[in-house]
Amino acid sequence: MLRADVLAMSAYHVPAADGFVKLDAMENPYPLPDALRDAFARRLAAVPLNRYPVPDYAALKAAIRDRFGVPAACGLILGNGSDELISLLSVATARPGAVVLSAWPSFVMYQVSAQLAGSRFVGVPLAPGFGLDRAAMLAAIEREAPALVYLSYPNNPTGACFDDGVIRDILAAAPGLVVIDEAYQPFAPRTWMPALERHPDLLVMRTVSKLGLAGLRLGFMAGAPDWIGQLDKVRPPYNVNVLTEAAALFALEHHAVFDAQAATIRAERAVLADRLARLPGVEVFASDANFLLLRVPQAPAVWQALRDRRVLVKDVGRMHASLHDCLRITVGAPQENATLLAALDEILVQRPGGSPPEGSRPGSDGAHPTTP
Ligand SMILES: *Cc1c(COP(=O)(O)O)cnc(C)c1O
Repeated sequence: MLRADVLAMSAYHVPAADGFVKLDAMENPYPLPDALRDAFARRLAAVPLNRYPVPDYAALKAAIRDRFGVPAACGLILGNGSDELISLLSVATARPGAVVLSAWPSFVMYQVSAQLAGSRFVGVPLAPGFGLDRAAMLAAIEREAPALVYLSYPNNPTGACFDDGVIRDILAAAPGLVVIDEAYQPFAPRTWMPALERHPDLLVMRTVSKLGLAGLRLGFMAGAPDWIGQLDKVRPPYNVNVLTEAAALFALEHHAVFDAQAATIRAERAVLADRLARLPGVEVFASDANFLLLRVPQAPAVWQALRDRRVLVKDVGRMHASLHDCLRITVGAPQENATLLAALDEILVQRPGGSPPEGSRPGSDGAHPTTP
């Protein structure tokens, strides 16, 4: 007998992407450089697959601490992706009547995971322009006394980092844990990692997924050793497999490669945002992440027309009223971004029956060619 709420759910849908320019999942477009592949293969070949992982993951944790500036006084927990860390948080906090709260719209897994664990999820609408609504957040925290508050920083799917002053107010008001999810930190100007020393109920969550290692499934979370120690009891002991462990260690030794890729993506983000904003009717929201949120007239039709041209983006319009006509687009490699812009130029400027605005045809400078 399955739970009624599970029966009523729909599965997390990942569209087939073969042959598409894949700009829907915030993946880094760059593969591991050829020059590193042999060394990488040798490293993985040496891993003893017959053995369980050593569940303290000491070497990997030391490398993460060193690389990502985890304060020495903090505890550290690893997850099979940060998705698993979210599950652990849900399980550990799900007392009867427990509330999990997040600014909203944000990462859907906060809600799905909390509800599956039996907690009540409260999403507090963002202010116009997608910043935190300070008064609404503080009122909801007072009213709901949440066991857990999530802040995605930068926020998925809106793109920007929230205001640090409002976050400080939330930290002061929250009666339980506050998790700042820094999945997009490689593309962001700020981090709360050093602030962990000043905020005993703050946890900072990161992942290597958006950095170019989404296939590895490795997330981590830092915070006060007491909190981390409690969460560690909920963690399956071998949750990070030996291949992920070895591959992540290898990647951290070669972090300069990934740092350079992130820098390229940040530079491309600025170029892409500028070009998109010049398309007729397109509004581009500020982003500190490796994606851009846009509002376009008739977004579902634009999404379909992009799909017809083999460009996959995410239509987030149905996620929340404030996101009506919004598309979320990953910043890709230059050629992918050019393909996207050419397709949008066709769709928005040369739309059959549409009337391109006079004299303002984007692409007429030759910067993004039109494909058949
Ligand atoms: C992508 C994403 C994650 C998931 O990261 P994984 O480590 O791949 O599970 C977590 N939080 C946010 C906000 C994300 O956008």
